[in-house]
Amino acid sequence: MERTNRLQDIRTLSRDELNDVVAELGQPAFRAKQLAEWLFAKNVSSFDEMTNVPKKLRDQLAERFCFNVPTEVAKQVSRDGSRKYLLEFSDGTSVETVGMPSRNKLSVCVSTQAGCAMGCAFCATGFNGLSRSLTAREIVDQVIHVANDFDERVTSVVFMGQGEPFANFDETVKALRILNDPDGMAIGARHLTVSTCGVIPGIRRFAELPEQFTLAISLHSAIQSTRNKLMPGIKKYTLPRLHEAIQQYVEKTGRRPSYEYAMIDGINDTNPEMEALISFCEGTLCHVNLIQLNDTPGSLMKPSPMKKVESLQKRLSIHGVETTIRNSRGNDIDAACGQLKQKHVNL
Ligand code: SF4
Repeated sequence: MERTNRLQDIRTLSRDELNDVVAELGQPAFRAKQLAEWLFAKNVSSFDEMTNVPKKLRDQLAERFCFNVPTEVAKQVSRDGSRKYLLEFSDGTSVETVGMPSRNKLSVCVSTQAGCAMGCAFCATGFNGLSRSLTAREIVDQVIHVANDFDERVTSVVFMGQGEPFANFDETVKALRILNDPDGMAIGARHLTVSTCGVIPGIRRFAELPEQFTLAISLHSAIQSTRNKLMPGIKKYTLPRLHEAIQQYVEKTGRRPSYEYAMIDGINDTNPEMEALISFCEGTLCHVNLIQLNDTPGSLMKPSPMKKVESLQKRLSIHGVETTIRNSRGNDIDAACGQLKQKHVNL
């Protein structure tokens, strides 16, 4: 075990590096192609699974490299079919990941950090602060774990689990590209969604990416004082600056961002809050996702009544703002938005 941890995870090699290793071992170039297929398209987790690779080469590779795959510490299955996993990496850090199946589709919600420094008032993850950021490989491994568990192809990934993706920008983008790689998992860029709580430099950098990845912004209030209370970690990026950055993103990319708005009883579902949201969105390219806040044990914040959610949807629609009411997935297993936190669960 000790030895395994000192070896490099073979899946962190680029295709060029893989070619170099194969050449160093005196093997023909086509072996590198075979290896790449096992590693990046078939997503195997051991050398033994590479059945068309000679045993001698597999043994040579095992001398130099390992597979550092996460361990499933626990899994819970929701009434709606969603599955929540607690996955542990080799240094003992653990994160939660959720798989959400629907007709012929499988969506995965990944974490980009273990814990989170943002401290949003309605979010269970923020309570314990940040442990560390994840590597691209650790983000991708969550998707592979879910694909293997369901034995299905993953059709979309949302970066909405633990952590603020733009506080871990480079590894997040690397993970997006691995997931999008046509010779790998080949998940379409538009089906890869990154959700930020509004880190403006991250939005600017995201706008520069050539791929059509999707951007979601956790808004939750368009009134500064409310937003400061709900999302204290993002205070310095004020709403007018955020609005401006999003409009620049739209101009640059032509892509439609979405706003996540978790409705909290008596806090962001009042008349002035609704009016502020309408004026933030009206006349701009955007899509609003309304969701009733999930009940987090111990939290004083409660979900808005459905009547209010429907009323806000109606008001936004009258002003020409496309709006969807989203169902919360997996809230009976604490897997819904704002409920992910590191804890061991009983099977
Ligand atoms: S809502 Fe997102 S950004 Fe806010 S504390 Fe939770 S994980 Fe972090």
